[in-house]
Amino acid sequence: MSGIFAPSLLPEMNFLNKIQAVFEKYPGRNAMCIKDTYYTYSSFASKIAAIQHDIEEDSGNEQRIGIIVSDDVETYASILAVLLSGKTYIPIHPNYPAERIAQIIEQAQLKIILAKAGENFHLSIPVTDTTSIPPENNPDITMPVASLAERNAYILFTSGSTGIPKGVPISYFNLDSFVAAFYALGYELSENDRFLQMFDLTFDLSVMSYLIPFCLGACVYTIPESGMKYTNVYHVLETYNITIALMVPSILSYLRAYFSEIRLPHLRYSLFCGEALYKDIVKEWMECVPNAAIDNVYGPTEATIFCLAYKINNGGDIPDYNGIVTVGKPMRGMDAIVVDDNLNPSDDKEKGELCLYGKQLTAGYLDPERTKEAFFEHNGEKYYRTGDIVFKDAHGNFMYCGRVDHQVKIQGFRVELSEIEFHLRKITGIANVVALDISAANGISQVYAVFEGEKSDTGMMMEELKTKLPVYMIPSQVYFVPSFPLNANGKIDRNALRKIITSLV
Ligand code: AMP
Repeated sequence: MSGIFAPSLLPEMNFLNKIQAVFEKYPGRNAMCIKDTYYTYSSFASKIAAIQHDIEEDSGNEQRIGIIVSDDVETYASILAVLLSGKTYIPIHPNYPAERIAQIIEQAQLKIILAKAGENFHLSIPVTDTTSIPPENNPDITMPVASLAERNAYILFTSGSTGIPKGVPISYFNLDSFVAAFYALGYELSENDRFLQMFDLTFDLSVMSYLIPFCLGACVYTIPESGMKYTNVYHVLETYNITIALMVPSILSYLRAYFSEIRLPHLRYSLFCGEALYKDIVKEWMECVPNAAIDNVYGPTEATIFCLAYKINNGGDIPDYNGIVTVGKPMRGMDAIVVDDNLNPSDDKEKGELCLYGKQLTAGYLDPERTKEAFFEHNGEKYYRTGDIVFKDAHGNFMYCGRVDHQVKIQGFRVELSEIEFHLRKITGIANVVALDISAANGISQVYAVFEGEKSDTGMMMEELKTKLPVYMIPSQVYFVPSFPLNANGKIDRNALRKIITSLV
């Protein structure tokens, strides 16, 4: 594989050409359905062209554009305007605490932000109101002419164990490679398909959910932000006869109680990603989606959306480890190896850390120090350590066994428990605190904060924590124990502590 993935070998971005062709071919087709309102490709193009124009006038030289994201057409038009201009978008969630937003602005060195009218974020840099930009009557979407390959398409910020979010830049080359690898999975999709988009735009699974339909001329159906997410997901799947849906497995845990009433005959592809998918629940799901191919796909943000895949109902038994469905094999253009504690490739049949290399892999974090910790050279190529423990089965499928560290998934969001602990320690001054992920009876994970010592009032602490971390990272319960159980090495025994806490719940 050596050398052939050099970005400079790819002067054109196929995915951008595909989108450009869609705008020309299907102006009257629906591009998006948001809160029951449809937007055609032609009206979408008018908004994109207007925002592009505005970006060029206001910030012609500026490469990175922040976007305060919400469930509206202006947000999607802003993203497309940035991508079709060959610039880099940085999505920012409006509900993030001000301090987190400030850290992102600083790390990404943002000078301009696009947002919807009426929002007042008290930001230190100018905010362009995207609703006040009049649509272009004659939408002529500009395509970048220079080679884009090494430029970044987006930068996402994930939970960082040091208390500061980690910036993951994904280049146009990475994204184009993802689209090519996705097409190579062989799904039979067309402009007639209806795609579910259930993800926050700060989460990279959202990129597949809007980008692939825009490459095809198909329609994207988003999920309302208010109310319960899983009921909204089901409502959209059923009401709009969605044909392809990428979801996080925790949606199934919520919907399981209603499986006997759920029938979605229109769903043709049901993809799961982001966290462990359990074999028992997916077998029950098959009854709800009798005409769907069900796939388990896997990948970290660092390797662009997803990069391993397993087709579950292709016949035969479903390979699993401890009930977790295999994550399959690398997609086209990606390579995966298993390494031991010394980063030496191990016998694949042994458990070890999964490491990735290939076209979809980021060149490194915004912060080079973080890059040094997570990447290493093997056979002259740069590999990324996923932190996931796997082994290969006899058919070459990677079996997911768990994590090497304290990274967990809460509703599909990647959370470093040490980031929560960092803030808890700082706010309370109590050194001995553990953030524990606890799985409820229905399989849904929550974070609890556990302190060592005398019980004290935690109301103020929780309020302060909300100013530091996104809502999904805030512990739902706080416990105090007289002393933490320790393992043979004198370290806090998290499993024993989990047992103690579960017995108190
Ligand atoms: P993120 O960067 O938010 O996409 O999170 C990546 C992490 O999510 C991976 O390193 C895994 O720990 C986990 N993950 C993603 N997909 C799967 C899957 N299909 N099965 C098990 N874990 C997964």
